[in-house]
Amino acid sequence: MNWHELSLTELSKAIRDKVVSSVELSQYFLDRISQHQHLNAFLDVQQERTLNQAKQADDFISKGRGGFLTGIPVAHKDVFVTQHWKSTAASKMLENYISPYDARVVERLGLNGAGMVCLGKTNMDEFAMGSSNENSAFGPALNPWNNQYVSGGSSGGSAVAVAAGLTPMATGTDTGGSIRQPASFCGITGIKPTYGSVSRYGMIAYASSLDQAGPMGKSAKDCGLILNEIAGHDARDSTSLNQAPLGYLSRIGKNWSDDDSLPLKSLKIGVPSEFFADGLQAEVRASIESALKHFESLGAVCIPVTLPKTQLSIPVYYVLAPAEASSNLSRYDGVRYGYRAKDYKDLSQMYERSRSEGFGAEVKRRILIGTYVLSQGYYDAYYLQAQKIRRIIAQDFQTAFSTCDVLMGPVAPNVAWKVGEKSTDPVEMYLEDIYTLSTNLAGLPAMSIPCGVSQSGLPIGLQMIGNYFSEPGMIQIADHFQSTTNWHQLKPQSLEQAVGGKV
Ligand code: GLN
Repeated sequence: MNWHELSLTELSKAIRDKVVSSVELSQYFLDRISQHQHLNAFLDVQQERTLNQAKQADDFISKGRGGFLTGIPVAHKDVFVTQHWKSTAASKMLENYISPYDARVVERLGLNGAGMVCLGKTNMDEFAMGSSNENSAFGPALNPWNNQYVSGGSSGGSAVAVAAGLTPMATGTDTGGSIRQPASFCGITGIKPTYGSVSRYGMIAYASSLDQAGPMGKSAKDCGLILNEIAGHDARDSTSLNQAPLGYLSRIGKNWSDDDSLPLKSLKIGVPSEFFADGLQAEVRASIESALKHFESLGAVCIPVTLPKTQLSIPVYYVLAPAEASSNLSRYDGVRYGYRAKDYKDLSQMYERSRSEGFGAEVKRRILIGTYVLSQGYYDAYYLQAQKIRRIIAQDFQTAFSTCDVLMGPVAPNVAWKVGEKSTDPVEMYLEDIYTLSTNLAGLPAMSIPCGVSQSGLPIGLQMIGNYFSEPGMIQIADHFQSTTNWHQLKPQSLEQAVGGKV
C-alpha cells in the first residue's frame, strides 16, 4: 500500500478500521525517510522513539481512547523545541541542544494532545533566516522535483518531507513567507494563520512580531485538520489570541453564497496589480492567470485592486526582522546553553568567539543590521520609519478588503532556482520575498496551493491572502479548487525515477 499518497482522513480511517497500525505506518514512513536521505529533509530521526510513541498510540486506539489523528505520523520543523529530539534551528550554535520541554505545537499534536507520532525534526534555514534552505548549517534540503534545485525556505525540510512522501504532514513557521514559499517550490499546500492564532511557546524565536506557526500538507483540508489542533489560546505566549476556536473546516464542502448555481458564486477575488509587475516570471504569471480563470469558472469574479506599498515591504521587513532577531539571538552567549568556543582569554573573548564560531554568515549579517538600525542616532531613521510604513501596509490591505473577499496572486516571482545560484548575493535572495512579506507585516493569514508546473518540471504555487480570521473561508475556497483540479496530486518525477517508478 502506498500510504504516503493518502490524505489524513484516509489514514485515520485505515487506522481505525485496523487496516494498518500506527507502528506499521510509522515504520513505513521511517523506511521512506532512510531511502531518501539524499534529500537531507531531516536533521534528527530516532526510530526507537518514534516506534515507542506509535506503540502507545496503538494502545490508546485499542482502548478506544484515540482521536481522529491518533497514530498518524507528523514531522516538526527543527525550530520547535522537543524534549526527545535535538532542537538545533539548523545552527551550529544549538548543534546538540536538547530542550527540557516540548513546544506548544508539538505538545498539542503529540501523544498528550491529538495523539500523532513524531517522525523527527526537519531541516530549515538557520534560525529560519532564508528563502532557499541553503543557510542550514547542515546543508540544504533538496527539491524532490529536481535535486539540483532548492526546496525554498526557511521551512524547506518540512516541504520536502511532505512532497517526497516522507511524512503525511509537517509543521512549519512563517516570518516572511517560510511556509508558503517552500510549499510553492515543492508543490504542496501550506497555511500561515492570522498572527497570534498559534502559540509561539517553544518556537525558537526569530522575529517575534512576525513569527507564526502553521501546517504544511498535501491539501487545504489536511492543513485545516491540523490547524484545528494547534490553534488556540496559550497563556505562556503573551501574543496568543484569546478567542473561541475558528472551526477551520466548518465551511468545507459548502458553497460560497446562497445562490448556489456555482460553488464559488459571488466570491470576490482581489487581484493586486503590484503582484503582476515586472520581475514576475512569464510561466508563473500564466499559471496564476489560469488558476484565476478556473476560479471564475466556479463562479468567482476577479477585481483589480492595489497594494501600493508592496515594494516597500522588502526594506521594511529587512529592517524590522533583523532588529527583532538581533535582540532574540542575544541569548546565545556561550553561557546559558548552546555552543561555547574552546579557546578564549577572558569573558568578552568567550562571547565573541562563541558567537563568531556558532552562527552562520546570514545570521551574523542580520544581527549586524539589526544592531545597527536599533542603535542611537539610527533608530529614528530606520526602525521607527519602518514601523510607520508597516502600519500603512496593513491599512492598504484593509482598503483592498473593502472591495473583495480574498486576494490572490503568486507566492514568489519564480519557481525554485538551482542550488548555489543566488547564495552569493543576499539582496537578490531578499527580493524573492516580495509577495509574501507584507502579509506578515500586517499579521494576515495567507496560504499557498499548487496551481501549475513549469516547463522545467518545477511546481508553481498560488497565494491566497485573507482578512484576519478568515481561514475557514480560505480553506473552503482552496478545497473547491483542489476538488476540481489535480495540481496538488502531481508527484515529483525525479523521485519516481529514483525509486524505480514507484513514489
Ligand atoms: N525569507 C525570509 C527571511 O529570510 C522569511 C523567512 C521566514 O519566513 N522565516 O527572513
